[in-house]
Amino acid sequence: MENPVCAYVGLGSNLQSPQQQLEQALDALARIPGTRLLQASSLYRSAPMGPQDQPDYLNAVAALETTLTPHELLDQLQSIETAQGRVRGATRWGARTLDLDLLLYGNETINNERLVVPHPGMKERSFVLYPLYEIAPGLLLPSGETLASLLDNCPREGLKVLP
Ligand code: ATP
Ligand code: CA
Ligand code: CA
Repeated sequence: MENPVCAYVGLGSNLQSPQQQLEQALDALARIPGTRLLQASSLYRSAPMGPQDQPDYLNAVAALETTLTPHELLDQLQSIETAQGRVRGATRWGARTLDLDLLLYGNETINNERLVVPHPGMKERSFVLYPLYEIAPGLLLPSGETLASLLDNCPREGLKVLP
């Protein structure tokens, strides 16, 4: 692979057999052109953010190696969401079959209309930080912060690892 970059993707699902959705999404990530799936975390169960009248989520984080640009990768993530029945409703943080967020793309900081990297919510979300820590405990963010220092400020809340 030519100049591959390591990217991290956050996965979430709370509709239509979330465990199967995440397993299918990991398979799909492994098939993205110019991309290898390096690692996947365990599956975690978390309480929903935002509207509380929706099922708990299952979450995971995957490490990819890719030669795609960040926008090409986002296109691929969004087509996987669509292929797995993601419907974009009006409710922010409403229930979904699959959510794929680009958490980190190498050491890059990106800030435009379609894409913000590092993902703006990741620093406060236990369901992102704990699975990420499982697969990349020594990670450093583009800001220079260590992942470990973010975890120190982020209680687990109800987050549980699936057996
Ligand atoms: P949140 O982003 O707070 O986790 P969400 O995942 O529910 O909320 P979506 O409806 O899935 O939000 O995405 C809305 C838009 O966010 C997407 O259309 C996409 O263009 C944009 N976006 C910006 N940065 C990112 C990123 N790092 N990863 C994925 N989407 C992003
Ligand atoms: Ca999200
Ligand atoms: Ca998203």
